[in-house]
Amino acid sequence: MKVVVVGAGPAGTRCAVQVARRVPGAEVTLLGAELALPYDRVALSRLLAGEVEVGDLITHPILALEAAGIRFRAGVAVAALDRAAQVVETTKGERIGYDRLVLATGSAAVRLPLPGAELPGVLAYRDLGDVRAMLRLAAEGGHAVVIGGGLLGLEAATGLAARGMKVTVVHAMGWPMDRQLDPEAGALLTARLGRRGIRFVMPAATVALEGERHVQGVRVDDGRVLPASLVVMSVGIRPHVALARAAGLQVARGVVVDDAMRSSDPAIYAVGECTEHKGRLIGLVKPALEQAEVAAAALAGDAACWQPVPDQAALKVSGTAVWSAGEISAETAEAIILRDEDAEEYRRLFLRDGRLVGAVLYGDTADAGYYMRLIAEQHVVESRAELVLGSSFEAAA
Ligand SMILES: Cc1cc2nc3c(=O)[nH]c(=O)nc-3n(C[C@H](O)[C@H](O)[C@H](O)COP(=O)(O)OP(=O)(O)OC[C@H]3O[C@@H](n4cnc5c(N)ncnc54)[C@H](O)[C@@H]3O)c2cc1C
Repeated sequence: MKVVVVGAGPAGTRCAVQVARRVPGAEVTLLGAELALPYDRVALSRLLAGEVEVGDLITHPILALEAAGIRFRAGVAVAALDRAAQVVETTKGERIGYDRLVLATGSAAVRLPLPGAELPGVLAYRDLGDVRAMLRLAAEGGHAVVIGGGLLGLEAATGLAARGMKVTVVHAMGWPMDRQLDPEAGALLTARLGRRGIRFVMPAATVALEGERHVQGVRVDDGRVLPASLVVMSVGIRPHVALARAAGLQVARGVVVDDAMRSSDPAIYAVGECTEHKGRLIGLVKPALEQAEVAAAALAGDAACWQPVPDQAALKVSGTAVWSAGEISAETAEAIILRDEDAEEYRRLFLRDGRLVGAVLYGDTADAGYYMRLIAEQHVVESRAELVLGSSFEAAA
């Protein structure tokens, strides 16, 4: 059976490896648009911050891929699917036949359609190419502006500050990570990052990027122009679905898949961030890898069913512990908050119908595993006080 996997990110690579392992006689081809061996995208922030080297990110060296029986081709982007002929066509016009196709095209970083957005020096934060470009510009020093104070924006900001740039974060809300933190915890984080030299301009909207042959500044809605020789847009992601849509597959926000990761064409599967399952997108690596395993099992003829588990995410900034999991919207759930201002610790737990559905930990994240377990178990809360004190209280009780 010829299996072609389009996209060599974490989901596509995991699926290719598992198909090669589980499907006897499978001829697996893995096509990746990026000119790189499969690498750990999650670790890009550590690369930017200078904590690891590029080589440390490679998850699948070429010899390992060959040994696994995978034909890997870097720098090969698929431009079209011919579903009737079961062929993919690359941007260079090459046609590659398949019996089963796996789409693992991931997401693209959203680029705000602002005046000046196409100027050199305006980057997204998504792949190794982006980080290499950031490092080239950071080597010259000067000012960087990060648009977007969410998790990734803050990782970009601290990485660039660690590289010696003067960094300003422009954020639309009144405090960073507003989806995870309330204003007080946001203020703690702002102060902590401020001590690392990161300045925040918020709430503020970017109205234009200025410069002629290269970006030189960011104009915000109060009229100020912030100097910048590097601008990083970190304002969200959008699934790569153009290929699937043009081929007539069912696509909503992502490629619509069933529990076995099959698309509306039974010969085509989809895994990772390009998918939409029961109306939901994913945005983290763990579910992407789980989906890859499920698709490989289905291709091997085994019963396979993907069951989403609550998301969890941590801010990967050394010396700053922030973790969140599950549903963390104060609009839909009741919150319990514990603050220790002197210790700069904060936790916020979200309950619905007497059950723990989400948690945010700031400053001390040692209880992350404990709360994750309770969220996954849909734990019924008997004592709010015990719950908020965490695992050490439970152990002592
Ligand atoms: C800086 C950064 C930090 C992150 N940190 C975390 C974290 O701490 N925790 C976490 O859980 N998640 C994190 N994420 C998110 C995580 O990286 C993604 O969830 C994960 O990479 C999704 O994997 P994927 O394989 O579905 O998609 P992707 O990783 O996007 O891979 C898709 C690949 O397909 C390729 N492709 C697209 N179209 C085509 C085509 N037509 N032909 C061929 N190839 C194509 C793309 O070039 C890309 O290489 C982070 C992401 C970034 C950018």
